[in-house]
Amino acid sequence: MSLHEKNDQIKYLERENQLLEEKNRNLEKLLGDYEVLLGEYDHVIEKNRRLSDLIEINTIITNSLEKKEVLNRILFQVKRLLNCQTCSILLVDQEINKLGFAFLGNEDEGEALKDTKLSMGEGVAGTVWANGIPIIINDAANDPRFSNRADKQAKSSTSSLIAVPLIVNGEIIGVVESINKNEGEFTGFDVQVLQFISTQSAIAIKNADLYTMAIRDGLTRLYIRKYYRERLYEEWQRSKRNKSSLTLAMLDIDHFKNINDTYGHQAGDLVLKGLADVLQKNCRSVDIPCRYGGEEFAIILPETSHEHAYMFLERMRKVMESCRIDYHDKTIQATMSMGYATIPELEPGDIEAFMEMADKALYHSKKTGRNRTTYYGDII
Ligand code: GH3
Ligand code: MG
Ligand code: MG
Repeated sequence: MSLHEKNDQIKYLERENQLLEEKNRNLEKLLGDYEVLLGEYDHVIEKNRRLSDLIEINTIITNSLEKKEVLNRILFQVKRLLNCQTCSILLVDQEINKLGFAFLGNEDEGEALKDTKLSMGEGVAGTVWANGIPIIINDAANDPRFSNRADKQAKSSTSSLIAVPLIVNGEIIGVVESINKNEGEFTGFDVQVLQFISTQSAIAIKNADLYTMAIRDGLTRLYIRKYYRERLYEEWQRSKRNKSSLTLAMLDIDHFKNINDTYGHQAGDLVLKGLADVLQKNCRSVDIPCRYGGEEFAIILPETSHEHAYMFLERMRKVMESCRIDYHDKTIQATMSMGYATIPELEPGDIEAFMEMADKALYHSKKTGRNRTTYYGDII
């Protein structure tokens, strides 16, 4: 090969090399672009996921009318979407114009704080209530806006939190707090997410309150008769289906007319309310205590045999008997007569007959001296 030819070959190889390098650079750039695209794609997917989560919570939170259930759902969603340790919900008690802890993720903390009330402007939650503006704190120990009073009471520890108002129709009904971010710090985006959740939550809480008002009696807070009828029908069906026990009890205050005549109608109302409170406190969460009429109550006791019903009713009758109701400088005592029936031990043909059995048992208690409990099965 001549020198000239060799030079040509070298030039050719150099050019080839340059082209290869150029191709390499292009490939690297493409790879880079691809990685950026991939990153953006993940970001879009993540954003999409959070967006559908947010849309979904609307349905999840507003899908219950039971206040406790609504609050539980809010807690769950706040913890999930804000990746935080816990959540507290404070609601305005309009009668005393204070903010009270309606719900905390931890039951012991809830118990410790159940009587703690905040004034408007007091602490982080009180400030959010007063101003309607969210507060974000990432270093609670060194933030002058944070007071550790609730932490001390509940033996808990707050390091970071976001508090946002619960607003319905322009009215602040409470404050929801997301507490202790699990990783890193709370961000502005977290505030937006909590605000979104709080909008849905406020509506759900208000709806649950309206529902409670509609199904409960104003004086005693027991369920109203219409609701009782519906629930009795449901429990009757369930008992038939599962062959499980169901007890229906009717209760009536003894000589209530005398109480009204002696102390006045207002005192009578107080007695009615006092006895209804005893009833409410002694019932299990599955029981359905109702104000059946004026001074008459009914209780639906699912999964309760007649022996257990007797023990339960007798215990409650004794608590009511020992109850003293203060009215001005007087102390009023009242007793109750009770009657009940239980299926499938008894076999009424329909719900009307079932109710009639409980009623007849109550009448028997009245007839035989009052302040006692009668099982229909014992008098036939
Ligand atoms: P018994 O032991 O036989 O049940 O006697 P009683 O006096 O309790 O029964 P009665 O049916 O004669 O009287 C019931 C009274 O309850 C009459 C009614 O004015 C009163 N009452 C009904 N609803 C209310 C209420 O909401 N508040 C008050 N204060 N009284 C009520
Ligand atoms: Mg009566
Ligand atoms: Mg009566």
